[in-house]
Amino acid sequence: MAVPKTCDVVVIGGGPAGSLAATYLSQAGYHAVLLEKQKHPRNVVGESLIPDFWKYCDEAGVSDKIAADGFIRKAGGIVDWHGATRRLAFKDFGYTRPALHVERDRFDHLLLEHAREQGVQVFEDVAAQGAELGVAPGARVACRAVGGEESAQIACRVVVDASGQNAVIGRQLGLRAMDEAFRFMSVWGYYTGSRYLAADGEMHPAESARNVPPTTYVTSVPGTGDWGWCWHILLRESTSVGLVLPIDAMKSVKDGQQSWENYLDRQCRALPRLGALLADAQLRPGSVRVIRDYSYRSTRLAGPGFFLIGDAAGFVDPIFSVGVVLAMYSARAAAWAIDRSFRAPGRAAEHQAIYTKQLQSRVELARALALPQYEVGSAATGEAKKAMQFADANARALIRAASQLTARSQHVQALMDDTPAPAGPEAD
Ligand SMILES: Cc1cc2nc3c(=O)[nH]c(=O)nc-3n(C[C@H](O)[C@H](O)[C@H](O)COP(=O)(O)OP(=O)(O)OC[C@H]3O[C@@H](n4cnc5c(N)ncnc54)[C@H](O)[C@@H]3O)c2cc1C
Repeated sequence: MAVPKTCDVVVIGGGPAGSLAATYLSQAGYHAVLLEKQKHPRNVVGESLIPDFWKYCDEAGVSDKIAADGFIRKAGGIVDWHGATRRLAFKDFGYTRPALHVERDRFDHLLLEHAREQGVQVFEDVAAQGAELGVAPGARVACRAVGGEESAQIACRVVVDASGQNAVIGRQLGLRAMDEAFRFMSVWGYYTGSRYLAADGEMHPAESARNVPPTTYVTSVPGTGDWGWCWHILLRESTSVGLVLPIDAMKSVKDGQQSWENYLDRQCRALPRLGALLADAQLRPGSVRVIRDYSYRSTRLAGPGFFLIGDAAGFVDPIFSVGVVLAMYSARAAAWAIDRSFRAPGRAAEHQAIYTKQLQSRVELARALALPQYEVGSAATGEAKKAMQFADANARALIRAASQLTARSQHVQALMDDTPAPAGPEAD
């Protein structure tokens, strides 16, 4: 493990957040080192991408590689929520580039390799163990090759925690606050031979996907109020299908002594439209995964010598497929703040604060959209309103339409009515 002794920035984690942050910083002329504890391509969930991701990839210069890979273009979304069907197509909101269904192992690998090409020193199979903060020149990161015994130290001006749900620095500093309003779990797996829904609501065999683009299909799960839902995302060789449920479901599976495979398969086949899509499909053995209690935020997003980005900064229920875009947004915003701090070290705290405010308002808007019982009127509401205030007319229309897809986020409409649209030129 020949990690350097010093550099400008250490990025922990090579998911979309880490790879893009390291790319932006390397392109800005800084020596960036990225530590990834796994070897890419690595398994990760979250395959539905809304088209906003293109602008972050354009800035990183990786869009051509993504376009050339031939990921499935999706037409939009169809949602069955307690018997009512609603649809959404991104082209109705001014988007000219497609939303995608991506195999995340492949997509994330492309981003990581691009970071390497852009001059980032990437070390795979190397896990960060933590960082000492408040030491010159900013932080000292301890790391170790996976399976190895020797630790190494890298002195850097800033450490960026992009370690996803592991949240290495967030946990070390005790910044992670579980989202008590969101005690969820998720179980998902991959089917072969599933049909899919096109924008007109008709079912098609997987082979038609290039000619008749699929939608991301979401349905509510009966008996769980507005909390439980299920996704169906057609990929090139398989279909990702998963359930998001209140945490109590986990107990019922354990008590019932059934396997997660049986549970997922039975629940999904019992949902009317999903059952029809899966009629001739098989759940791929060994493909089922479970995650619990994954919603949290951080009480602090940046401080002397550190920035938290992507899922390491916080995570909300993935119903509106904003996780990857939020990760990319935070990577861009953090890279900007770090660059500014390096240019004007005396103003580092100011740039940490700007980053914190920007990300907080985006995360809060995501919470307002995704939380069935979001507390309108709380201090956090002001943060969500700020994000809306800076959204252009198309983005506002999309937020409104998304809030009408389920019965979860009707309060967002009230928030929007209460938030004036920007008067000047569009803000990002
Ligand atoms: C059930 C579910 C469904 C989802 N569906 C969607 C969806 O459809 N669309 C969408 O946009 N988002 C979705 N998401 C969210 C999305 O997957 C995440 O928001 C996204 O992966 C965040 O990217 P990241 O780079 O922050 O973290 P990650 O992609 O998790 O990457 C973190 C990386 O850090 C590495 N790492 C961890 N610890 C260490 C360490 N100690 N040292 C070095 N490296 C380390 C990991 O190996 C990993 O590669 C979903 C999430 C879940 C849980």
